[in-house]
Amino acid sequence: LIAFLLYLFYLTGPISQLVNGATQLQTGLAAIARLREIEDLPAEPVAPVESTSPKNTAPAAVTLRDVHFQYGDDRSPALNGVSFTAPAGGMTALVGPSGAGKSTVFALLERFYEPNEGAIDLDGRPLTEMPMSELRAALGYVEQDAPVLAGTLRDNLLFANPGAGEDEIADVLTRTQLNDLVARLPEGLETAVGHRGQMLSGGERQRVAIARALLRKPRLLLLDEATSQLDAVNELRLRDVIEEVAGTTTVLVIAHRLSTVTTADRIVVMEAGQVRAVGSHAELLDQDDLYRELATTQFLTNAEAMAPAGDKQAK
Ligand code: ATP
Repeated sequence: LIAFLLYLFYLTGPISQLVNGATQLQTGLAAIARLREIEDLPAEPVAPVESTSPKNTAPAAVTLRDVHFQYGDDRSPALNGVSFTAPAGGMTALVGPSGAGKSTVFALLERFYEPNEGAIDLDGRPLTEMPMSELRAALGYVEQDAPVLAGTLRDNLLFANPGAGEDEIADVLTRTQLNDLVARLPEGLETAVGHRGQMLSGGERQRVAIARALLRKPRLLLLDEATSQLDAVNELRLRDVIEEVAGTTTVLVIAHRLSTVTTADRIVVMEAGQVRAVGSHAELLDQDDLYRELATTQFLTNAEAMAPAGDKQAK
């Protein structure tokens, strides 16, 4: 009987919890041991010149030269001879229907994949000749519907560059038009902005993500504009912020908004893995059927699409 009671106690009671706990502890210890092994791996050798020279923050030009790429041998090419340049310090917009290859251009720039043919240069230097650490330092990336982390607004801004100073933070908040948000929040920068940024609107979330990227002083900012609607005020702010940012870094944006394409210095129209046309908003409206269709249907279904390019013509 005692043995039976002990068995029942084991099945339902604290002993089974103890045994489970011990198993979890073992799993945890094994994970820590693996982490230690990873930590003990020799660090990637870094050339002394990289570690001592100050970070190059000058805007970089990007050139794709006849880039071909397919995700697998059995797949049709995602990029089929793509060539274009995003000049240093301006804003270049990539537009095109779904599947045209816009995100693939970003993936190759980040070197998640290598082109099958052709080359990509940053300021005339092939990406393949650049240490990954240098490329990572040169690139900023703001994804669609960029996440806001749990924690304070300051945590969110400093996430990628914990060493940024107060002056830098103040400068970036001004440039991304976030000062009124900070003033509105009960504890300013120290306000917990909540899980997934529930305290922030969609427009504020995207500008926080841009501010976070800017604190790393990228030479090239890749911005995948959110497709979700913004109210008129936030849309204009985003447009102004992108323009402002393009003053100090090169901006390459996958554009979904008319307000963004009208102010781009250069628009690259992609279709089925190829570049179909390059020009300003006014030029493309005049010359390219697909662009005209995108402008009237995809970017915004409003009369503004065919009107002059607002308060700033594409350069
Ligand atoms: P969207 O506007 O819908 O994001 P896009 O212009 O960014 O489209 P890509 O995402 O670059 O287009 O896709 C180009 C082609 O490559 C498409 O045919 C797509 O199905 C394919 N593709 C994209 N990513 C992958 C992947 N990870 N694996 C396999 N095929 C992919």
